[in-house]
Amino acid sequence: MTEYSSSELMELEHKYGAHNYHPLPVVLDKGKGAKVWDVEGREYFDFLSAYSAVNQGHCHPKIIQAMTEQAERLTLTSRAFHSSALGVFEKYMAEYFGFDKVLAMNTGAEAVETAIKLCRKWAYQKKGIEPHKARILVCDGNFHGRTTTIISFSNDEEARADYGPYTPGFTHVPYNDLAAMEEAMQAPDIAGVLVEPIQGEAGVIIPDDGFLKGIRELCTKHNALMLADEVQTGIARTGKLLAVNHENVRPDVLILGKAVSGGVYPVSAVLADDDIMLCIKPGQHGSTYGGNPMACQVAMAALDVVRDEQLAENAEIQGAALRAGLREIPHPLLKTVRGRGLLNAIDIEPANGIDGWQVCLKLAENGLLAKPTHEHTIRFSPPLVISSEEVQECIGILKKTFAEL
Ligand SMILES: *Cc1c(COP(=O)(O)O)cnc(C)c1O
Repeated sequence: MTEYSSSELMELEHKYGAHNYHPLPVVLDKGKGAKVWDVEGREYFDFLSAYSAVNQGHCHPKIIQAMTEQAERLTLTSRAFHSSALGVFEKYMAEYFGFDKVLAMNTGAEAVETAIKLCRKWAYQKKGIEPHKARILVCDGNFHGRTTTIISFSNDEEARADYGPYTPGFTHVPYNDLAAMEEAMQAPDIAGVLVEPIQGEAGVIIPDDGFLKGIRELCTKHNALMLADEVQTGIARTGKLLAVNHENVRPDVLILGKAVSGGVYPVSAVLADDDIMLCIKPGQHGSTYGGNPMACQVAMAALDVVRDEQLAENAEIQGAALRAGLREIPHPLLKTVRGRGLLNAIDIEPANGIDGWQVCLKLAENGLLAKPTHEHTIRFSPPLVISSEEVQECIGILKKTFAEL
């Protein structure tokens, strides 16, 4: 497939690419379903799924077919003209997720930015907040992307240091603390609350039952918008189509990305009802590639797969099996196991020079790819198409690996 070896390819990246990532030393060349292969042909289970973008499995044939058919027909019109795919896609999305309207973008960060802009417009036009005074409540430990505004309200020093001056208008509240949220919501200048239903990047932090419902009630009571960032938790990852569904909560603004396209093409989206979405008028927001014909076809195929293959149900079943298997591994390094559906994590208790990174290197040697997030937490989030047999095989790899450590 390639004339280069893995080590030569890593050299090339190091020499010619910016050093803004620190990947595991594995060079992938091919993928199918829950598995990937490196340049030398070694096989691995993918337990990251590109941060939950590849929920439908690698190179799903139906999604690839939708993309290649559209690629030969029309790829990009910009929004200066209509396209034969956009309206069909917008109707599909509105009905699939149950909102009046959708605004299509490309990356998750752009969708979050869109939600922030929409929330501010609404705050001035509908809630009547004084110009330039609107504030959005965000949670400690959040991850919403990498733009200048978004890192302005990150608590992660690595993500924000030396990138100032920072965008104002955001106030932190501890995650999973409804009393603190209620207190912060008393101010008259609160436009909305931006929240991840589960904090993925922070290490799969699952709030107590009632946290999301509580935010929903506070937003309704104080006339503020609930903005749910489901970029990582959405699209069946946690065992339901959306993570907010676990508490029967409907946010005012739903933010989607990653698995909307099954990892095939960058597609993100913001959904809301007319009263909110129509606050943005022609010329006030957009993106050249947002809602392009390829994106539309890929997203519809990817969401068909989620429904047709009952991936939410499978995530629920396989997630429970995976956690049960992990809990049977008695090892001093393995401190905790937690998760919902197939968004799972373990915490490593570092000892004898073995930390999360070392565990991941050893797992890779044994054919399972995962990556530490936030020091000693390792996320286990395989594609949702993983079968019961494959999950058992993976539990075997995990057991073997811990036995060797
Ligand atoms: C990944 C992620 C984003 C950002 O998506 P990009 O496509 O990387 O810009 C935003 N929010 C959450 C919760 C994410 O996990």
